[in-house]
Amino acid sequence: MADWNYEIFWKETMNLIRKELSDQEFSMWFNIDYLRATEHEIFVTVPHPFYRDQVSSRYKKYIESKLKELTGKDLSILFEIKPSDVQIQAPALKKSTLRQSETPENSRNIPNSALSADTREEKKKGPHYQLNKDYTFDKYVIGDNNSFPANAALAIARNPGNSYPVFLIYGGVGLGKTHLMQAIGNYIYENSDSKVIYITAENFMNEFIQALKDDKMSAFKNKYRYVDALLIDDIHFFENKWETQEELFHTFNTLYDAKKQIVFTCDRPVSDLKKITDRLKSRFERGLNVDLQPPNYETRYAILKKKVETKNVLIPDEVIALISKNISSNIRDLEAALTKLIAYGELVGNPVTLEISRQQLKDVFASPKQSNMSIEVIQRVVAEEYKLSLIDLKGPKRTKKIVLPRQLAMYIAREITEYSTTDIGDYFGGRDHTTVMHSCKAIEERLQADPRLDSTIENLKRLIKEYNAKS
Ligand code: ADP
Ligand code: MG
Repeated sequence: MADWNYEIFWKETMNLIRKELSDQEFSMWFNIDYLRATEHEIFVTVPHPFYRDQVSSRYKKYIESKLKELTGKDLSILFEIKPSDVQIQAPALKKSTLRQSETPENSRNIPNSALSADTREEKKKGPHYQLNKDYTFDKYVIGDNNSFPANAALAIARNPGNSYPVFLIYGGVGLGKTHLMQAIGNYIYENSDSKVIYITAENFMNEFIQALKDDKMSAFKNKYRYVDALLIDDIHFFENKWETQEELFHTFNTLYDAKKQIVFTCDRPVSDLKKITDRLKSRFERGLNVDLQPPNYETRYAILKKKVETKNVLIPDEVIALISKNISSNIRDLEAALTKLIAYGELVGNPVTLEISRQQLKDVFASPKQSNMSIEVIQRVVAEEYKLSLIDLKGPKRTKKIVLPRQLAMYIAREITEYSTTDIGDYFGGRDHTTVMHSCKAIEERLQADPRLDSTIENLKRLIKEYNAKS
């Protein structure tokens, strides 16, 4: 087939996308090079199969739609792996692991005495004293809400201090921040001789104050400034703790200059933190900041299913479905419901049926936190207000008359429901989550320029709530 050259279009597409995404997102995922093309296909290279899978599931359609805008043609993108360039390095293997992976012939050549004491000691390496041994990547279900954070975390764990020396995970309670952070810690600890410290922000402060009192600041500094990976959980706790912030600032700089890995979690975006010095905030924001969102139904189901399997208890699938359907707030609440059922089942010594589950979890399901506003209601109200059909609102048309209401509906869905951008995209004719993100951004920008839009949105929200209360 004849060669076609779409390279100029490719470059322009990348420029457009760079403007739409955050720098972090772009630099994380758009390590893509143009290779060659046929009339209907563009071949590009990515550094690693891991990237190929992620980029193709997250961005393929999005890139193709951008290309179509520029070329007017339906071009498919085909990913190939760049042969010599491996971006994510294999974990630094321990000596003992290397020996195990050698062929039996080779191992036999190693005299017994060469299996030195330190090797045996390494094999016995117990669990890390601060880390929960269950908080590993193996036990972390990857779903719509967390695939970007989880993959970034894995990349960081495999190559600490290199690709993203500062990593910050933020999101609401019970969404898996601590689990993901500790998975990084466990991975580094198990696969290398690196020194890993995990601590909550609160305990970091307590230790700091104690060290001051006991006149042991140099021991404190030695402990925190000579680690390979420092994980500090729940940094929103540092608000208003000025002395501790000062100490952390210097700890950060020392580790950063030494190219060590630093990981933080926070319950909100750093920009929303108050009473934290600007210079510390700018350090938090220096690296990759990713957010964890509430999981959708399928992910909730997958998480519960996995918990049931690892706990080795008998809970029928229909019960798992019931819980997943009714509890959408976060994963901690999901687990709590499951634990309650298991405890009940053990107590009465009967299998947990659907009926019993409904009975036992009635109050949990009825709590206000779980009553999710539906996206359909939002769509109906917005369509009615703008005199559009639902089909137009959800469909592909991009006339001016439709685009604003559609963006508003997506924006409001993002604000008042717990659905992820992926879910919302599904409700709008299978649009990609990046389109939803783009729409929300467009509304935010409009809000800046046109303050009247704010009251339009508030009015719509009120109508939606009224409608919801009636239905
Ligand atoms: P956070 O720190 O955000 O409040 P946690 O990390 O403590 O949340 O998570 C709450 C519970 O949910 C933990 O038991 C954790 O193991 C579980 N959990 C969270 N996310 C996942 C996931 N993706 N897969 C499996 N379990 C998860
Ligand atoms: Mg936590």
